[in-house]
Amino acid sequence: MLITELDHGTLAANAGIRLDRDAVEAFEARLRGRLLQPQRDGYDDARRLWNGMIDKRPRLIARCKGTADVIAAVRFARTHGLAVAVRGGGHNVAGLASIDDGIVIDLSEMNGVHVDPERRVVRAEGGATIGDLDHETQAFGYAVPMGVVSETGIAGLTLSGGIGWLRNKHGLSCDALIAADVVTSDGQRVRASETENSDLLWGLRGGGGAFGVVTALEYRLHALGPDVMFAFVLYPRERATEILRAYRDYVERAPDEVSSIAALGMVPDEPSFPEAFHHAPHVMLAAMYAGDPEDGRRALEPLRAFGESLLDASDVMPYTQAQRVLDQDYPNGRRYYWTSTYLHGLDDAVIADLIESAEEAPSRLSTVDVWPMGGAVRRVEPGATAFGPRSAPYLLGIEANWDDPAMDEENLRWGRTWLKRMQRFGGGIYLNFPGFPDDEGVASEALFGQNRERLVDLKTTYDPESLFRTNHGVEPRAASMVRERLR
Ligand SMILES: Cc1cc2nc3c(=O)[nH]c(=O)nc-3n(C[C@H](O)[C@H](O)[C@H](O)COP(=O)(O)OP(=O)(O)OC[C@H]3O[C@@H](n4cnc5c(N)ncnc54)[C@H](O)[C@@H]3O)c2cc1C
Repeated sequence: MLITELDHGTLAANAGIRLDRDAVEAFEARLRGRLLQPQRDGYDDARRLWNGMIDKRPRLIARCKGTADVIAAVRFARTHGLAVAVRGGGHNVAGLASIDDGIVIDLSEMNGVHVDPERRVVRAEGGATIGDLDHETQAFGYAVPMGVVSETGIAGLTLSGGIGWLRNKHGLSCDALIAADVVTSDGQRVRASETENSDLLWGLRGGGGAFGVVTALEYRLHALGPDVMFAFVLYPRERATEILRAYRDYVERAPDEVSSIAALGMVPDEPSFPEAFHHAPHVMLAAMYAGDPEDGRRALEPLRAFGESLLDASDVMPYTQAQRVLDQDYPNGRRYYWTSTYLHGLDDAVIADLIESAEEAPSRLSTVDVWPMGGAVRRVEPGATAFGPRSAPYLLGIEANWDDPAMDEENLRWGRTWLKRMQRFGGGIYLNFPGFPDDEGVASEALFGQNRERLVDLKTTYDPESLFRTNHGVEPRAASMVRERLR
């Protein structure tokens, strides 16, 4: 009996592929984890991603419990010609953790984390979240530079870079990656480190992924915590020009210990914010000091002194608490479209457009975010890791966030229009805030700059038939082109 016809109703995109029921059952029997299929219990929950805009229907979802399950799933996919998507934390805004009519290798239950304090290394499974990692590393007084929302998966984040509250002091998440275990498209597990398959490690450091299933990641640890100084100040939007100028002057002189974000949005109507300010347009300044909390109190003081604020929740707090400050703003299932570009500076013309873009946002949940990129991020040579651009001093994130599906078009238009407008002040895209796959420029040659050719070589070596399809525009060379190059 053919599963395709039995469970899926119609033969859809991947159509030519027919899955034999006995083969699927034999595959299921080989797994320690669950195999989820359409019209069976748990399938609809399992296919759901963080972004409510994404609605994909994979043929199979293999919820793996360990490397053996991953190997079995890759071999099954290869034998049956099914394209693969890998799910780590499921938080990719573009929905790359799933695939219509293919197989999802779901690592959400592979989230173990082990700290080796003697070697100052942490090893985490490929489905671990930032919260999982922080919980274990902080027990030993260590941290790894990660993102600013604790539910994000560490694997997806790292494979495309990873920017957060420690970036200026300790670099990107991918800079802290020292080794990984990867199940490649031939169903073999390989280790990538400085001494074994170092080309693969280079590619995993920010190259956008899709070289295989990363079952474990190892990171260098940095001493930090348990407490840090964290600044969180909301100023009224009507003073945005003055605040953003003062912020620019501050970040240009700030020490590497300070990593910050400025965002233009509206005060949420949540109990943690004074009711009088609910829905008030604001400029948010948030920053962490990666060092002694009392030094941090002094270093972050200027951010709190740009005149009267709507709210100032800055304080010394546990690092794990600071890592969750923004969690509540990003619930599962809301509709999201996030895009980005790098900025050459934050001059008055840029500031004027930032303010105008925020004022035009159709949803009061949306924000326009400025991430200063300095210190350790910019000290790494551009070719030293696969992560592309490192020279721009600012990253702009345009976050359209909304609830009503009837507003989809308006919100997408706002994000895309402003991306185009702001690109005249810089260019490129940060792959963790990539827009949607069919957006102009997302698969462009320019994404990885000088690193692109090397990434194509890696893809050709480790995934010549493109079993892993869900990355951004890095395709294996056609066999003939490989021959041409080797001649
Ligand atoms: C609320 C929120 C906050 C965010 N904050 C930040 C931030 O502060 N800084 C930042 O840099 N980014 C941030 N991001 C962006 C985030 O880094 C990306 O969305 C990233 O892709 C999420 O990784 P994931 O593992 O959760 O995603 P998934 O959706 O599971 O996967 C993302 C991509 O990586 C691949 N992948 C995932 N796991 C593996 C694996 N183990 N092996 C091989 N491939 C894998 C997937 O196939 C997919 O292509 C945020 C995203 C959200 C939703």
